[in-house]
Amino acid sequence: MILKDFFIGLSQNQLLNSAAKKYGLKLGAQNVVAGTNIAETIESIKELNKHGISCTVDNLGEFVFEKEEATAAKNQILAVIQAIHENGVDAHISLKPSQLGLDIDYEFCKENIKEIVSAAHEYGIFVNFDMEDNARLQPSFNLLDELSENYDNIGTVIQAYFFRAEEDLHQHKNYRLRIVKGAYKESPEVAYQDKQEIDKNYIKLIEWHLLNGKFTSIATHDHNVINHVKQFVKENNIPNEKFEFQMLYGFRKEMQLDLAKEGYNFCTYVPFGQDWYGYFMRRLAERPQNMNLVVKQVFTK
Ligand code: FAD
Repeated sequence: MILKDFFIGLSQNQLLNSAAKKYGLKLGAQNVVAGTNIAETIESIKELNKHGISCTVDNLGEFVFEKEEATAAKNQILAVIQAIHENGVDAHISLKPSQLGLDIDYEFCKENIKEIVSAAHEYGIFVNFDMEDNARLQPSFNLLDELSENYDNIGTVIQAYFFRAEEDLHQHKNYRLRIVKGAYKESPEVAYQDKQEIDKNYIKLIEWHLLNGKFTSIATHDHNVINHVKQFVKENNIPNEKFEFQMLYGFRKEMQLDLAKEGYNFCTYVPFGQDWYGYFMRRLAERPQNMNLVVKQVFTK
C-alpha cells in the first residue's frame, strides 16, 4: 500500500511529468509504451495484428490545463484516426476527456471529442472514453450520453472499485463497455479499498454485462478472472462475438498471444507519445513487480 501511494504520488508530480516529456522514453517505459510517434505506433500495431490481436490506441497525456494543449491532443488523435484508416490496421481509439479539455471547460471538451468521434465514425472506427478519477466520472458519462444522441461508435469504461459501478453499468448496458478494476487512488467514501471486495464486484459486473449487455471488454491481467470468464461463457453459451479480453501493451505478452491463439477476441491497449510518465508510474503503483522491467532496462543497456 505504501509503495502504491508512492508511485501514485509520483504519477501526479507535474514537474517530473514535464521533465520526462523532454527526455524521451526512459526508466524502462519503452517496454510498456509502443512508441513516441504515430509511425512507430502503427508498426507496433501491425506486429500485433499479425497475431490476430486488435489494438486500442491511447495518445498519452496528462495535466492539460491550457486550451492549446487540448487542441494539440485533439489534432494528434485525428492524425491517429487517419493513420489507422490509411494503413488499414485493426485498431480503434481510447481517449481521456481530461486530455481534451474536461478540466478547462465542459463544452470546449465536448466539441473536441465530437470532432474526433465524427472523424472516426466516417471510417467505422470505434472510440472508447477511458475513465479517470472520481471527480471526472460523472462529467465523462454526461459527455458520452450527450454524444450518443448522434453517434453509435462510442463506449466507455466501468471501474469496479466504485460503489456506484453497478448502477452505472445497468444504465449504460447498451454501450460497448470495458470493465476494469480501477487504477486511481479513490477515497473510502466512494470506492472499495479491499482487493477481495474489488475482485468480487469485478466478477459480478462482468457476468452481468456478458448476460445483459452489448459487448464486453474484459480488461485485466488477472489470470484468475480470465479463467473464470472462460468457464462462465462456456456454461452460459455466450458466443465469442460478444466479448474480448484486453491487456496493456507489454504486459503478459505470452498470455496475450495464447488467448488470441485459443480463438478469443483479444485487444491490446497501445499507449504512445512523449507524455508517458504518469501512465508508467500508475503501472508501477498497481504492481511494484513491474519494477523488474525497470531494473532489467537499467542493467541491460
Ligand atoms: P491486478 O489486481 O493488478 O492483479 C491480479 C493478479 O494478476 C496479480 O496478483 C498477479 O497474480 C496477476 N498479474 C497482474 N499483472 C501481472 C503481470 N504483469 N504479470 C504477471 N502477473 C500479473 N483503469 C481505469 O481506472 N480506467 C481505465 O480506463 C482503464 N483502462 C484499462 C484498459 C486496459 C486494457 C487494462 C488492462 C486496464 C485498464 N485500467 C483502467 C487499469 C485497471 O483498472 C487496473 O488498474 C489494472 O488493469 C490492474 O488490475 P488487473 O485487473 O490487471 O489485476
